[in-house]
Amino acid sequence: MPSSEEPSAHKEPSAHTEPSASGEPSVPQKPSSKTAAKSGGKIQFRSQSGLFQRWRSATGAGLIALFFLLPFISWHGRQAIWFDLSNQQFYFFGTSLWPQDFTLLAWVFIAAAFGLFFVTLFWGRVWCGFLCPQTQWTFMFAWVEEKFEGSRNQRINLDKAPWSREKLTKRLGKHSSWLLMSLLTGCGFIAYFVPARELYPAIFSFSAGFWDTAWVWFFAICTYLNAGWMREQMCLHCCPYARFQSAMFDEFTKTVTYDAARGESRGPRKRKAATELGDCVDCNLCVEVCPTGIDIRNGLQYECINCGACVDACNQTMANFGYKPDLIAFTSEAGLKGKTPPLWQRKRFIGYGLALIAILATMGLDMASRSSIELNVLRDRQSLYRETTGGQIENTYLLKIRNKTQQPREYRLAVTGALPLALSKTEVSIAPGEQIELPLTLTAAAGAIKTSRSKLTFTVSELVSESETESGAGADEEAEAVSQDSVFFAP
Ligand code: SF4
Ligand code: SF4
Repeated sequence: MPSSEEPSAHKEPSAHTEPSASGEPSVPQKPSSKTAAKSGGKIQFRSQSGLFQRWRSATGAGLIALFFLLPFISWHGRQAIWFDLSNQQFYFFGTSLWPQDFTLLAWVFIAAAFGLFFVTLFWGRVWCGFLCPQTQWTFMFAWVEEKFEGSRNQRINLDKAPWSREKLTKRLGKHSSWLLMSLLTGCGFIAYFVPARELYPAIFSFSAGFWDTAWVWFFAICTYLNAGWMREQMCLHCCPYARFQSAMFDEFTKTVTYDAARGESRGPRKRKAATELGDCVDCNLCVEVCPTGIDIRNGLQYECINCGACVDACNQTMANFGYKPDLIAFTSEAGLKGKTPPLWQRKRFIGYGLALIAILATMGLDMASRSSIELNVLRDRQSLYRETTGGQIENTYLLKIRNKTQQPREYRLAVTGALPLALSKTEVSIAPGEQIELPLTLTAAAGAIKTSRSKLTFTVSELVSESETESGAGADEEAEAVSQDSVFFAP
């Protein structure tokens, strides 16, 4: 496999090591194209090293490792994070969420969205450049592509070259590796829905069920197309965030910016000699390293994902010429003018901050009020009441009680109201995650009934055994309880 440093027939200025043997920076002696090289409609961007690329690689490696490893974490004998679609449950480290709890998940997404707005206000599209899976997978696929097909120039030449054994071998190697990575990505994603420890062996031994296999391959093909072929097209044409992100910016938002006042007028030169030109030596590296194929010197553009590759490339050029860094930098329009206002003067900071606090507070309340017991009381629709031969009045109800925890639980049933009522059953045990339907009869002495319609309240409370209580005192201590109102009818 060729390396990225392998000399090519069309020697281009290296983004990694610029000085020549004489110590002179080797820069192009004539202005280059100023556009990213497209080869067969595809942007061939140069790999780049530098501070921001190290940050991007580090965040990418961490997030990708998390993505693959999280499904392998077990919690109380079960996969810690698991969307169990067949049982309509979402397990998250010992907590079970049901479809009716999905308001909580909605709050999490809303809070994440406002968190993103908040971060965007300060650091522009830092999400796109450093955290977004599309970017991370694109760079990962580009890295593999370079390992098989060589540096940017070599790839462009290979694209133009006629088919040969060498071209076929390189292409086969690249696409097989991409497919394998895509298949692993498909497994990684589906492992949040199907137990990971069963899914991987089943997929790779071709023994997985039809739907598991179909979904894994569906996501594998999406990954292959997105990261291998579509790449920046996803960011430019499919991602809504690219379109509305500028609405969150203000003049103090830090984003990748070219300092035109310092850089212009641009032009090539041999070294830091006396010149009327600005600091931009027109080496075109900032364009060649750009994964979306733009020239940041044309100003802020929605295509820019803030990956910082052009910042690293330009800083290397600046160092080679002995110029100060940050001709292209993460800075703001106001920062270029030397303005740094106090935070409270930024209206959007106040607005997004207050919205985020309100959302987090509401989410906290929602979580605090969440119960691990679900109770639903239905009255018998066939008859309002029944008179017994002993002169008592009976009402029948159906109690649907769900144990939303991941352990078996004992529950006590109680009823309160103006009437002295007797329950036909007072304790039940329910398996983890199960719902029982319990027919219950309430009985009252006819003489005690003053009205044909008496309000009452059913209460289901969890019984905690002695070993489970913190104090260890008192068996069958009651913990959590839920109640629901109903009515007792009489003649
Ligand atoms: S302009 Fe710079 S920061 Fe923006 S996408 Fe291109 S290389 Fe990345
Ligand atoms: S901005 Fe920097 S990297 Fe881009 S052409 Fe000018 S000197 Fe080169």
